[in-house]
Amino acid sequence: MTVGVLALQGDFREHAAMLESIGCNTIEVRTSEDLDTVDALVIPGGESTTIGMLATRYGLMDAMRSRCIDGMPIFGTCAGMIVLAGATSDGNQPQLGVLDALVRRNAFGRQIDSFEATIDVRGLASPMTAVFIRAPWIEKVGADVEVLASVMDSYGGSHPVVVQQGHILATSFHPELTSDTRLHEMFVALISDR
Ligand code: GLN
Repeated sequence: MTVGVLALQGDFREHAAMLESIGCNTIEVRTSEDLDTVDALVIPGGESTTIGMLATRYGLMDAMRSRCIDGMPIFGTCAGMIVLAGATSDGNQPQLGVLDALVRRNAFGRQIDSFEATIDVRGLASPMTAVFIRAPWIEKVGADVEVLASVMDSYGGSHPVVVQQGHILATSFHPELTSDTRLHEMFVALISDR
């Protein structure tokens, strides 16, 4: 089994290192030929407009979308979550539209644009530390999307930050930046189940 990490921009090296540490073969994906060789894909954090623009230029948007529709598991973190989603609440940008969710970019606002929180994720036995960096949250999910974790804003509103839709897993935060490999393991289990 080979897990590709989309390597156009962002922290793809950290994802690859974490996947290797739990026993996966990884390759960096920059072309649709690279994508043809993988069984699953991680879309890292970074800048979603840049990732979307470069992926469009290299013909990867259509290729990723059709592989995903054919059942290839995808894990998107932070900017990767935005790329997976169907829409953003603040304007147009290239998105795959495979995750039935509306996301708000930079949702936590300027004052706390980067922070760590301890969150409970459904399916994990104990809480995990989540690193949020100019992170999105999810405003609305479709009926097929399961919310595995949410955070509260200062007004008591609850916002999904980990979601799963069948073979698609997405987080608002950066699990690759801690030493906690459990979400990557959850993703690998998803691949093995298929
Ligand atoms: N704010 C970035 C975006 O909108 C995401 C930040 C990140 O991936 N850490 O794409």
